[in-house]
Amino acid sequence: MSTTSSTPPIPNLTNVTRDNDFWFDDGNVVIITTNLRTYSNLCPTAFRIHRSVLARHVRAPEDLLLADLHIGDPLTDTMDGCPMFRLPDSSHDFRCVLHAIYDGPNYSEAGKPLPFSTAAALVRLGHKYDIDSARDLGMKRLDSVFGKCSTWNLAINRSAPVSERSWSTEVLSLRRKDPIIAVNLFRTINAQDKLLAALYMCTELDNDDLLTGTTRVDGLAEKLSANDLARCLDARDRLAARCTTYIVDTLTLPSRTDCRKKKTCDQRLKEIKPLMLTQERHQSFGATRCGIVGPIYPQWSQDTKLCETCRVFLSDRELDFQKTLWRALPSIMDMTGVEWDNLFSGTYTSKMWKASHMLFYNFYVS
Ligand SMILES: [Zn+2]
Repeated sequence: MSTTSSTPPIPNLTNVTRDNDFWFDDGNVVIITTNLRTYSNLCPTAFRIHRSVLARHVRAPEDLLLADLHIGDPLTDTMDGCPMFRLPDSSHDFRCVLHAIYDGPNYSEAGKPLPFSTAAALVRLGHKYDIDSARDLGMKRLDSVFGKCSTWNLAINRSAPVSERSWSTEVLSLRRKDPIIAVNLFRTINAQDKLLAALYMCTELDNDDLLTGTTRVDGLAEKLSANDLARCLDARDRLAARCTTYIVDTLTLPSRTDCRKKKTCDQRLKEIKPLMLTQERHQSFGATRCGIVGPIYPQWSQDTKLCETCRVFLSDRELDFQKTLWRALPSIMDMTGVEWDNLFSGTYTSKMWKASHMLFYNFYVS
């Protein structure tokens, strides 16, 4: 495990609790998991399961898997006649994997989003022990939030103030500070594009949250590494600088050359300018913290006081700006080399980009 998480303690086997869901009378192997809560008297949990079922889902040969699970001194004791193996992972994570193995992909309640903690557990242990079925199931859910197009869509279509908004989707629910856990998970499994998305999400957290970190459902404390913390703070400054430039540029824009209601549109632009500085993003972050990707003045396209030409131009211009920010995320996050370039392929062509900049040019030479 990386230095971002505290080291799990070796399980104490003096008191063991049998798991309610996974204690089969005909099971032939007992797995003892670890209580990761630092200040807790909770006992380690024992799972009595079937060797053959476990072996069916694991790519590693059965004996190798069980040898891998075996940490510290070999356990000579048995429980109910079954050989015992100790696992350095939490009962929460192992239980999630057993649900995936025994119940299949439909074990989560139909129509309900899977908690991030469950999806992360499936990917964490699925990766660690080569259990493809568990890892694929968890990764599919994580993709709905951390896939590079998913994160962009969630960011750009946000409607609630940043401080009240979550990244949850219909298939995955997240707690506010889960992106911190996601960063450490994606570092462990080396998923670079998802890591970039998770790091971006962390830049939207308050400094206090970034510094104190969070606690996983299984009790393990997680923080960003010092490098990733600095990366997020630096990225936020860079994003804020770009946003400020965009806002200042917008504040100095005259109406378009082909505007047919120049007087009305100029007057309306004058009224809108102060609103750009008092949007919800600024109220929730404070005026000096505008380093986010998302609507700056979302009302462009509905502002009927502007003529249609100006309305379309200004709303397209803002979307173009946000897309430019998103495309530049690898350099903003100081992670150049991450494959990210084809994000808008199909929906955002160079022709469209050029057209928007010609409009921008026309705007300025009026
Ligand atoms: Zn106009």
